[in-house]
Amino acid sequence: MYTHIYNHIIIHYDEITLKGGNRPFFERVLISNIKEFLENIKYDKIYKDGGKIIIEINKNTDLEKTKEVLENIPGISNFYFAVSEKKDLEKINKKTVEFLRLYIKENEKTILRQAQDDDNVMVSLSNHQNGKIKTFKIEARRSDKKFEFKSPEINARVGESVLENTELKVNVHNPDIEIVVDIGHKYCYIYFEKIKGIGGLPVGTAGKLVSLLSGGIDSPVASYMMMKRGAKIVFVHFKNKIINNTGDDKIKSLVKKLSRFQGRSKLYIIPFEEFQKEIIAKIPAKNRMIIYRRIMFELAEMIAKKEKAKGFVTGDSLSQVASQTLDNIGVIYNSANLPIFPPLIGMNKQEIIDLAVKIKTYEISILPYQDCCSFLIAKHPETKAKLRDIIKQEENLKIDEIAERIMAEIKPEVI
Ligand code: ATP
Ligand code: MG
Repeated sequence: MYTHIYNHIIIHYDEITLKGGNRPFFERVLISNIKEFLENIKYDKIYKDGGKIIIEINKNTDLEKTKEVLENIPGISNFYFAVSEKKDLEKINKKTVEFLRLYIKENEKTILRQAQDDDNVMVSLSNHQNGKIKTFKIEARRSDKKFEFKSPEINARVGESVLENTELKVNVHNPDIEIVVDIGHKYCYIYFEKIKGIGGLPVGTAGKLVSLLSGGIDSPVASYMMMKRGAKIVFVHFKNKIINNTGDDKIKSLVKKLSRFQGRSKLYIIPFEEFQKEIIAKIPAKNRMIIYRRIMFELAEMIAKKEKAKGFVTGDSLSQVASQTLDNIGVIYNSANLPIFPPLIGMNKQEIIDLAVKIKTYEISILPYQDCCSFLIAKHPETKAKLRDIIKQEENLKIDEIAERIMAEIKPEVI
């Protein structure tokens, strides 16, 4: 599908345009994020042109890889592979026709290939006729308002040239292909195949959050959602080596998958067995889960301080499990001194699973893994915890001593 006639990529972002005076900051962060993501891909230049970001690519640019990378960068609403031409209408006409012919030829080749892959070639060939490009529309845009022709005139002139030199017909309401002729500041860009990005805001523009990552289905999705809103995520995972000695591969591969959206990520793995031993010795089974989770926030807060993070992310979804009743969430969240963001709180399990599949964390999340949260808790855990009772029970715990010793040795891994 991808041909090396392309020499530019045009990137559009949406919400950034709402940011008024902060707009240059958002644009700067987005460009710097794109640069980091394209680290291993060859290209010539990246810059801003009007309200767009332009990447100049060359024959050595791996287009498939570039597409895959750009599709996952928060802040990009959509992008196009484009060809450029000097800002001269004659030349633009010629280039549009040339580009279009090549594109149509490749499109037909793809249709034929798909048809031949099917068993019944004749049937599928007629089915695939629909994929053929027969009608078009020109959509002129002018970032450069000084360009000598106005949009309607560009539409008319380029349209005429396409009509004369191809077999395509005009259909302004429902064209098979919409050809954008975009007069930028440096060049005119011609493009037509829109590739959707994930939208949202560039990672880092919102500051940092610490995500409590469990290895289950929910917390990776929650982390993704906050990245999409511009937060840089630092991951913290609590692990009880005694009940789970399967190594850290699963958690690391989850973080690696999530790094597709935010670039390199820090992961802190905190040994939890000593804390759990202390809790199991002193707390009745039905309250252990609540206290495990309260302690997790206290420890995560030490990481947040170190990382200058402004809050936490969890995968909580209201009433999904016992720790997520309104009463229990109230008691658990009360142990944190920073705000907690549970972006999945109003989502159904299936909706969360669908998103997990989409962001490709699902297949890792369902691998067997013993989460420390479920260790020695009651068959019928408390669902209506009272803060006063829980705080009273915690008075006997020697958590601070253990925390001081263990947290002093914790170092993050960069993934
Ligand atoms: P998940 O699918 O994210 O594990 P869950 O529905 O299984 O969520 P719980 O196991 O009660 O629910 O955990 C609720 C939240 O607590 C998780 O989404 C996660 O943010 C945090 N959490 C639980 N266990 C751990 C852990 N071992 N390390 C870090 N965070 C954890
Ligand atoms: Mg879990």
